[in-house]
This record gives sequence, structure tokens and C-alpha cells, in this order.
Amino acid sequence: MMNHSLNMDHSSIPLEKQAPSSPLPGMTGVIPPTVCLGHVGIIGLSGRMGQRIVSALEKQRGFRSILGYDRAVISDKSWENMVFCASLDELFEKSSVVIDFSVPELFPHILDAASKNPKPMVIGTTGIEPDVLRLIDAIGRRMAIVVAPNTSLGAIIQRWLAGKLSQFLPHSYDIDIVEHHHRYKKDIPSGTANALADALIAAKKDQGLDICAGQTTSPRQDGRIEMHGLRCGHVFGMHEVIWTGTDDRLVLGHTVFSPHIFADGAIALARWVMNGQKPGVYGAEDALGLTNLSCPG
Ligand code: NAD
Repeated sequence: MMNHSLNMDHSSIPLEKQAPSSPLPGMTGVIPPTVCLGHVGIIGLSGRMGQRIVSALEKQRGFRSILGYDRAVISDKSWENMVFCASLDELFEKSSVVIDFSVPELFPHILDAASKNPKPMVIGTTGIEPDVLRLIDAIGRRMAIVVAPNTSLGAIIQRWLAGKLSQFLPHSYDIDIVEHHHRYKKDIPSGTANALADALIAAKKDQGLDICAGQTTSPRQDGRIEMHGLRCGHVFGMHEVIWTGTDDRLVLGHTVFSPHIFADGAIALARWVMNGQKPGVYGAEDALGLTNLSCPG
């Protein structure tokens, strides 16, 4: 079994850089709050999420340095211990764990660099095409990777619950996924909406559910999850799964109030993935210990 965290000598880290005992109230699960991240490589460092992760790391501590890769190099002297790498190869070589929030187009290069220097990794980028996801699966034989299209605690639990609820509701219920994001978001449907649909399809795999992106068809067709996306305003992320029957309706919703929850979640997942996880491709629900958890009752 690979143990990437063995690369780091955590004993030499000064106390003030050790992670506080409970940095993430609410996202404890099986995520060890005290694992030191060592050298954190961030792909997309200059972007919105990259910068939020830096701020969160500075608040939480529990790391040695921040390494970044981005085509836009920014300088901010208030960020201590932060260095831009000239290449993805350099980033993977020097990092103990890699967190990616960039663009899907960069993935062929990211996976090439990862194959030369496999490191535990969290992928937060959304809109990754299925053929690239298959390449990620292949590289997951050599390193532990968490693919998390939504790193907020509530959304991870929402996805798990959606699969569970789906098992209880008759096939006759129409299923819709409604999502609302800020006007700058590039992909539609969102990665979270796709992940919710995947969970519903997996829960009803014997009934052959299908996804229909875009507008509702009229008349409504059976067996299709209809996806509805809004791109307007400054909404950080709202997802609802709606089951509508003849006589009632069930809504499972999640709304993000602050995007800092994504950064905190990504850091928690990074701690989990570098804490001796075996090579493989994981979901955020694995880190929370939800995968093998059944519904109470
Ligand atoms: P952003 O546009 O602010 O940041 C992307 C960064 O990638 C930019 O700094 C850009 O310069 C860099 N970049 C783009 N092309 C590059 C290239 N070819 N080489 C090097 N760097 C390049 O976007 P963001 O809001 O930070 O979001 C990034 C990704 O994370 C998106 O896919 C978004 O949907 C996703 N996201 C995921 C979650 C989650 O919970 N998993 C939350 C928020 C956003």
C-alpha cells in the first residue's frame, strides 16, 4: 500500500504550524483534523477558489508551505510561504498533497504531471468530460484521488440522502434537479447536479433512469430526470432534488451562503486523502464515512 504521507517529516514542524485540534466543526466524520498537510500544491492558485483555500489555510494552519500553479501569477506579500511553480511537473514533485480548482482543459497536462510524481490529490474542478474521468480512474491505480464536484458538507450529505430517498419513492414520481449559480459559472448542469443525478440513477439502476438536460419536455416523459439550471446573480450554489407525485411533492434542497465552505471542505478532504489512503478514486462521501452507512430505522 502506498503511504504518501511518509514523504513528510512532520515532527520538525513548529507547533504553530500544526493543525488546531478541531478546525472544521461539522466536517469531522472520519476526517482526521490534526493531520499536517505539509507542502500544499494548489492548481488554480490565482482563481477565486485558489485564493479562498489560501485564506482558509492561513486561518487553520497545519501546513508547511503553499505551492501554486496558475497561468496568471499574482503577488500578494501578505501570503507567507507561498511560491508559484513554473510547471505542473514542479508542483507535483514538490507537493505533499495537491488540490485542484482550475479548468477541465488543463487535465491532460495535470494527469501527465501526476503520472510522473503521483501524490494524494483532491479534484474540485467541475465540468470534466467522461473520457478524462476515465483517465483519472486509470491514474487512481497509482495515487489516492478524491473527486469532489462539491466540497461543502451539506451538499455531500444531500447527495447521499438523494440516493437513499430515491430507493423509497415509487418510480411514478417525476424527478427534477434544479440548480442556481452565479452568472460567471462556466459549466451547466453543475458538477453537483450531475453527481446528484448519478446518485439517483445508481439507486434505481434496475429501472433505467435517464438524464434530460435543458428544458422540460412537454408532455413529460417517464423515466427521465430533468435538469434545470439558472446562471444569474451572485448565488454561490443552490441545488434541489424534487420528486413530484400525483398527490404530493418532496424537496431535498441545499444552499450555500458562503463559498468559504468549499475551501474548508477541500482542505478537510486533503487531510483525509493524505492520511494513508490506498491508491484509488474516492468520492467525498468516502471521506465522511457515508459510503457504507445505511439509513436508520
Ligand atoms: P476561477 O476562474 O476563478 O479560477 C480558475 C483558475 O484557473 C484561474 O486563476 C485561471 O487563471 C486558472 N487557469 C485557467 N486555465 C489555466 C491554464 N490553462 N493553465 C493554468 N491555469 C489556468 O474559477 P473558480 O471559481 O476558482 O472555480 C474553479 C473550478 O472549481 C471550476 O470548475 C468550478 O466549477 C469549481 N468549483 C468547485 C467547487 C467544489 O465544491 N468542488 C466549488 C467552487 C468551484
